[in-house]
Amino acid sequence: MNNNILLLTPSSNELPDVNNLKAQLKEIDFIAEPFQFDSKEHFKPGEELMFHLTFLGCSPVVSLGEPGKTGKEFCHIEFYGPFDEKQFISGKNVKPLRCPVCGHRETNWQPIIEAWKRDRTLWHCPSCENDISLEQLRWNKSAGFGRFFIKVWGIFENEAVPSDKLLATLKASTESKWDYFYYRGDAF
Ligand SMILES: [Zn+2]
Repeated sequence: MNNNILLLTPSSNELPDVNNLKAQLKEIDFIAEPFQFDSKEHFKPGEELMFHLTFLGCSPVVSLGEPGKTGKEFCHIEFYGPFDEKQFISGKNVKPLRCPVCGHRETNWQPIIEAWKRDRTLWHCPSCENDISLEQLRWNKSAGFGRFFIKVWGIFENEAVPSDKLLATLKASTESKWDYFYYRGDAF
């Protein structure tokens, strides 16, 4: 089954104080009380969640209903990390690689990503012969790197973007701004 998740992550290597961040997000009603989901701690959406995400379509598919009553695709929030090393998160929606040097478009990119996840193998561009780190690539919000993530489950790709207020709250928890991207695929 495909899960649709909006991920938020600090743009630098910096990590937030997670307990303080949770308190801040509760304060602005982005998250509500915790519950167990697949034996992990998740949070129910706060009452103001719909104001902290700007939905781009006219009728969002997101469900704020009770877990179990509205199917699996309901909105809930999970804190993922912190990790010692940078993680690369990419799902089925990841866009083809494009070489930042020569613009070569790689259509068979999944094995390259798997190799990078396994042992940080650089991508050798067959066109310009440069060795490229995946961190140098632009993923167009279809994948991302980070050591800490907030996962907003139940948000479809490009369906909603974080509001300025949410991004400001996140930025206040670190010295750097936060980025976001979308994931579609198996639960993780
Ligand atoms: Zn190239």
